[in-house]
Amino acid sequence: MKIIRSITSMRNRIKEMRKKAKTIGFAPTMGCLHQGHISLAHQSVKECDVTVMSIYVNPMQFGPREDYKKYPRDLKKDVELAKKAGVDYLFVPSDKNMYPEGFSSKVSVTNVTERLCGASRPGHFEGVTTVVLKLFNIIMPDTAYFGQKDAQQAIVIKKMVKDLNMPLKIKTLPIVREDDGLAISSRNSYLSKPQRLRALSLYQALSKARQMIQQGERNPGKIIFKMKRLLRRGKFVKIDYIVIVDVPYDGSSHPEAFPYNHAWFFRVDTADTNYQNGDILTISGAPVNGADDVFSFKVDGINASLAQAELEDIRVVPDPYFGRASGTSPGWEASKYEHVIQFQNLPDKCSVRIYTISGDLVRTLDHNPGDGGTVEWDMLSEDRLSISSGIYLYHVESQYGNHVGRFAVIK
Ligand code: AMP
Repeated sequence: MKIIRSITSMRNRIKEMRKKAKTIGFAPTMGCLHQGHISLAHQSVKECDVTVMSIYVNPMQFGPREDYKKYPRDLKKDVELAKKAGVDYLFVPSDKNMYPEGFSSKVSVTNVTERLCGASRPGHFEGVTTVVLKLFNIIMPDTAYFGQKDAQQAIVIKKMVKDLNMPLKIKTLPIVREDDGLAISSRNSYLSKPQRLRALSLYQALSKARQMIQQGERNPGKIIFKMKRLLRRGKFVKIDYIVIVDVPYDGSSHPEAFPYNHAWFFRVDTADTNYQNGDILTISGAPVNGADDVFSFKVDGINASLAQAELEDIRVVPDPYFGRASGTSPGWEASKYEHVIQFQNLPDKCSVRIYTISGDLVRTLDHNPGDGGTVEWDMLSEDRLSISSGIYLYHVESQYGNHVGRFAVIK
């Protein structure tokens, strides 16, 4: 494998190969290679006479507050992996070579870049199309390989190639995942152990969506609602977007409204609020056409399987309880609830039994419909004696199933 740094020598090599009528496959990357990149190289080696891979962390596709500077770079390891994968030429240009003084051109592909990732990363796709066009002009491949992991990117590149009559084929290859399902990415190295665990909720949400669609669900609102729940459970609090789009995506339809172009969904977020009988919800920004508008609402009642899944959301606040409530737990007001422990997110009707670690029943509390999902414990036993420090177990019994947990009291 040859490592080439200058554009001129890369062009000369390509000229030689063209003379010999060799077909050229190309996989552009930003390096820190992993099995996702390698799958592109393998496919190229299989299909083309010569495989070129580029490694270039392209500054133009990073926003001012993005991770250009700390993007992982490891050329030594990349060289090893590319060689092993059968790459013939590793093209590693410099910034000076790619963007010399006075560089001022940009390639912009409209309609397919404004939404989805384009909405959260302004300018990103212009950076991508500009650098990819430059690389295509240098390498002049017959086929270029991209990963489906960056689905919108592949769509944008295909559109650019079609619109600008570029003489090459674009192939999109499947996502390569870790054993547990997380898509492999150079940026996964940023994740701490707990973040890495939480990131799995992305795969779980996608798998859930696929399962729902395979089982016949065709309401995008319902699928997205379920996905958001799973992501929230994984504490993935900042969701940029979830949309379900037509394939091929051309950016023209508003994805979330499809296929209900004449219907509006009002989603009530029961995950964050415990609604009570008699609560009044106000809809703002609704598309009101006039006095003849009729809105009808249907409450499906409690979904037993959802309610069972939600038993996992039950939590004890504060946990641990320190002598006097420390006020550090979220949603905890120290002065008001001193000497009180709350069991939150309870199902409508249930009993909470509290046990010592050796299995003695300390107290039974009941929660009834209308109690708002929370029951308070004054930290007294059935005999009205103050409890001591230690680990306690609790068991919630409801018509939807049981939930067991533990908490600590430090006095
Ligand atoms: P990057 O180095 O992140 O710019 O990625 C270079 C190419 O590798 C792009 O076409 C990506 O879509 C592709 N790629 C990155 N990760 C994966 C993966 N896990 N599976 C398949 N392709 C990938």
